[in-house]
Amino acid sequence: MKMELGLLNSKRIGGEAVVSKQSCLSCHSPKYNDYDLPLCLVCSPWTNNGESPKSFGSLEHITLLEFIHGDNYQEIISRGMPDGDIAWKELLCSINASSIGDNGRFVNDTEEVLSLITHIQGVIDEYTEDLSRSENLALSYYSHFVDLDKSSILGDDEEKLLQFEIRNQNVTFRIVRMKGDEVPSHAYSFSKPLELHSNYYAEIVSINGSSVSFDYKDLEGCAEVLLLLEIHNRGIDDTVESYNRKCREIIDKLLSQHCELFTEESIQILPHSISILSELNRILSGKDDDLVRELLLCSLYTFENWKWIQNVLDPARVRSFQFLSQIMTDLGKRVTLYENGFSVDSLTGNRYQVNWTKFRTDHVFWFITEFFEDKSVCIEVEEEHDLPMGDILAVILLSLYDDIESSELIKTLNI
Ligand SMILES: [Zn+2]
Repeated sequence: MKMELGLLNSKRIGGEAVVSKQSCLSCHSPKYNDYDLPLCLVCSPWTNNGESPKSFGSLEHITLLEFIHGDNYQEIISRGMPDGDIAWKELLCSINASSIGDNGRFVNDTEEVLSLITHIQGVIDEYTEDLSRSENLALSYYSHFVDLDKSSILGDDEEKLLQFEIRNQNVTFRIVRMKGDEVPSHAYSFSKPLELHSNYYAEIVSINGSSVSFDYKDLEGCAEVLLLLEIHNRGIDDTVESYNRKCREIIDKLLSQHCELFTEESIQILPHSISILSELNRILSGKDDDLVRELLLCSLYTFENWKWIQNVLDPARVRSFQFLSQIMTDLGKRVTLYENGFSVDSLTGNRYQVNWTKFRTDHVFWFITEFFEDKSVCIEVEEEHDLPMGDILAVILLSLYDDIESSELIKTLNI
């Protein structure tokens, strides 16, 4: 089974030979990767703004490299980090589908609560759009006044109560006109901002007249409680308390058992429906399918590190770092790799250090010093604009190594 998967995965990245587990995402080679990081020592300083990426434990069934290059996984990657329970469900479904292909149970478990969430969202969205449209109209009518004070037209009350009947229960939300960007973490705000003068968020007030508050998200909490009220013949306070408790239990478990994936801040991005939280927890605990678990780990890592991972997808860049790595291998002991860059011992006995630096000009991302005399060296690479980063570094490395030849071109070289 393992071998089959390996072969399958190697085909997925375009017929390349099976890659080793610690292969660097930038140059695809396991060489120079002593610390089992997603980037090797050659590529690491130049890929993530000089910072080493967070480590990523080795997996059994798939490598991160296979994941980010695999055609099969492009759909998962293109989704990005989920921004709500519906997005979480879609992510977990496509991860499941690329392995076992059966989402029947999970879809069943989540269907009801997600359709309730969507329904409540719809009611709030519709009400808020009407509200903002009429406020907009009022504002535009008076817009010729120079010192327009919004509140003198719209009134001082920043909030309206929205009541609606759903599943035989009477639900009340408070719709609050926003001042600035402040939204309470439990409130619902629109995923697509309205192109209007004001923005709003919604928070729960009561169900059937009993005031209600949720530890995490109002919308998901409200939907879950409405479902629970149908099943159990219990009071609203009890039901809310039991949902809050259950939610907290699973979130605490996720945070403590997978602390390398989640932090306290992750609470905001986690799903908040019990069924989706449970599924997330079940997959991560590795209860059944290991490939599913590993696909989820790869997804979460990729979303979180997307800023630099998207850079290493460029094939020209990959080739350029393979070229650089090869030259370093050829120079053998004359090259030393370290966290911020590399050093090279030249033919004339100088030692040059090439470090990553925040762009000094638009195109110069390196800083060179001569180690023994602590003098900085200035090199300009012709046509640097068109060359991939690894090629530029290779040119620099070779010029520094052969500093007799280069001294004509590089005035600051000290020979
Ligand atoms: Zn590399």
